[in-house]
Amino acid sequence: MISSNLISKKRDGLNLRKDDIKLFFNEYLSKKVTDAQMSAMLMAIYFNGMNEEETFSLVEVMLQSGKTLDFSDSKGFVADKHSTGGVGDKVSLILAPIMAGLGLTIPMIAGRGLGYTGGTIDKLECIPGFNTNPDIEKFIEWVSKSGYAIMSQSQEICPADKKIYDLRSKTGTVPSIPLICGSIMSKKIAEGISGLVLDIKVGNGTFMKNNQKAIELGSWMKKVGKAFGIQTDIVCSNMDQPLGDYAGLSCEVFEAIECLKGRGPKDLMDVTFELGSRLLIQSGIVKTMPKAIELQNDILESGKALKVFENSVETQGGRLNEFQNQSLPKHEKYVFPETSGFIQEMNTESIGWHLVEMGCVLQNRDQKLDKTAGIEFLKKTGDRVHQDQPVFRVFCSNKDKINRISKTLSKTLTIDEIATQKKPIII
Ligand code: URA
Repeated sequence: MISSNLISKKRDGLNLRKDDIKLFFNEYLSKKVTDAQMSAMLMAIYFNGMNEEETFSLVEVMLQSGKTLDFSDSKGFVADKHSTGGVGDKVSLILAPIMAGLGLTIPMIAGRGLGYTGGTIDKLECIPGFNTNPDIEKFIEWVSKSGYAIMSQSQEICPADKKIYDLRSKTGTVPSIPLICGSIMSKKIAEGISGLVLDIKVGNGTFMKNNQKAIELGSWMKKVGKAFGIQTDIVCSNMDQPLGDYAGLSCEVFEAIECLKGRGPKDLMDVTFELGSRLLIQSGIVKTMPKAIELQNDILESGKALKVFENSVETQGGRLNEFQNQSLPKHEKYVFPETSGFIQEMNTESIGWHLVEMGCVLQNRDQKLDKTAGIEFLKKTGDRVHQDQPVFRVFCSNKDKINRISKTLSKTLTIDEIATQKKPIII
């Protein structure tokens, strides 16, 4: 079959066979299929979706584009978490050391920013020297030394996701259930894990805008996990406002460190503990959620989780002692609300695009991230605000950008005189 015929086939709503998907994606990796052709295919998948057989084939083809890891000798329960992406979501940075400290083995393959959502890899690379691109042997060595390690997709492992991820971000094709499922599940299966918890974000700051879509995505991923022998739990969490008090790059690493010191904001810790509890129950270490939460609180209070994080950063070449000074933004501005009242809604996707404009997510590989950039949320949904009190603190190292951003950020808030109920973070 000629590649361009496969694009027409999907465009016309027909189903692709496994061999079609294999041919098209492998030819993309060997550069016979161009970026333009892959973009067209992604858009055709975005509009026409994929049936079960196609989705499973996509996961398999993406997985088989690289090698897989083997942790069958590991003493600890080998597991991981992944989120479908949001604004201010730094849970991986907090959860991985907590789980490793409690005896689990976490070989995490993560991604960069996608669309308007931040990426774990971009955040970790704010730490001077931090290596997110080791070869497989080194990665396995790091995982066994620290209990966890975090790397990006690479030429060796999930190269198909590595290459397509950027293209999806640039072509508006991220919010597609089969493409998200293929991207996430190929990475997770490649890790050689036995347990997995997926944080499906739902709301105006993520790709699944309503519960129905989130449940559909969750059930696809659970089905794929089961087919590959991975115990998979699904948690749906609210993304109608940014998670935690900060979104951006270095500021999210600072906030994660605060969480590991036991000083994290409630919404962020609630999501972390919910996901952590699912993994602890899967591993057999505990039987109940209250016991799982108690263990997680204890490891934070004892300082052990922070130590595990510091050791892991050092193992991956990161120099935390240099991080603080290098991460200070040159400019900051406070943003005031347009009126007084109660915040009814935060347009989280728009906040995400403001972060993109400040350089927290790349739209093209020739751009540069501004590691110092971010937003502090001084108020969240349901809070009372006054016109003369700031709601956001914006910071970055480019004066023009900060001036532009601070003019429009207040428009992301809907304010009314009536008090509104805060939504629960776990749905
Ligand atoms: N995270 C991923 O790794 N892939 C997606 O498609 C979305 C979130």
